Amino acid sequence: MRLINWIIGILFFFHSSLLLSQEAPKRCGFQEVLQSLESDSSYLAEQIRIKKNATNRVQAKSDTIITIPVVVHVIYKNQTENISDAQIYSQIEALNKDMRKLNADTTIVNNQFSKADVKIEFCLTKTNPDGTYTSGITRTYTDIDNVGYNEQYFMIKPSWGRDDYLNIWVCDYGNNVAGRGYPPGSLADRDGIVIDYTNFGTIGTAASPYNLGRTVTHEIGHFLNLFHIWGQNDLTPNCGSDDEVLDTPNQSTIYTRCQSFGNSCGSDDMTTNYLGYVFDRCMANFTQGQKTRMRNALLTSRTALVNSNKGCNALAINEASLSSNYTIFPNPN
Ligand code: ZN
Ligand code: CA
Repeated sequence: MRLINWIIGILFFFHSSLLLSQEAPKRCGFQEVLQSLESDSSYLAEQIRIKKNATNRVQAKSDTIITIPVVVHVIYKNQTENISDAQIYSQIEALNKDMRKLNADTTIVNNQFSKADVKIEFCLTKTNPDGTYTSGITRTYTDIDNVGYNEQYFMIKPSWGRDDYLNIWVCDYGNNVAGRGYPPGSLADRDGIVIDYTNFGTIGTAASPYNLGRTVTHEIGHFLNLFHIWGQNDLTPNCGSDDEVLDTPNQSTIYTRCQSFGNSCGSDDMTTNYLGYVFDRCMANFTQGQKTRMRNALLTSRTALVNSNKGCNALAINEASLSSNYTIFPNPN
């Protein structure tokens, strides 16, 4: 009888695990991106150029705030997927808090690790490619499924041009993946990030466990040339591979869900980094080394974007929170 109870317990455990694993999408599709780029000569050349650019490396260490104009392309099959402006604002706000270390949960980060204010901000653009006014949001209907995973989003709604905008596509990604981002030197037509509508923003369709906007924070890391903290291989992470960042310890374990402590390569693992796979509520920091690498990549490889004159939309008041407090205007009515 005891044995039967034990077997039932085990079965129940595995059944529950299966249910849970079905609930949480895969954090990121960057592995497929890297596979598509591993023999791409222009990507590899750009990686070498970024590494060699010592001048910009000095600049990257400076603390000038860089502001990047963003266009959010919503691609939808139904009104649920046609997410609200407010949800988009909530994402821009969450992203900026993370990039400026204004997120309230940095306390979960082990004190031995750095927590960087990256000093890069994002705003919805106010200027269409033709120079006219825009809210920084486009909306395009499609009847096609899984347009992220199947790489159709950039054909359904073409990029506004990576020299002027960070393009963010929000859609039904497909294949139970939260999103992906493209690093410097990748193909222009899909350069940017693409995110599932259930893992974008902090309200509306944003669904736990990726409902604090950190799928975007993570993918922006890739857009700015960060690898996952264990290196470039999700399948065989090991203590001999790394992410080309010195202050993120090597780790051979990929933590999913939430993890407060780990020690997989003889030193404490950084379980709270944005470039890991844990749930949104369990990640809270970029390091100083990641900051330098991101700024170096931006100033070397995405200089046109840094100098874009497309501007910030005043409607996207959410970045007002960057000055750490909202200004509440009296309402005469
Ligand atoms: Zn990733
Ligand atoms: Ca490292």
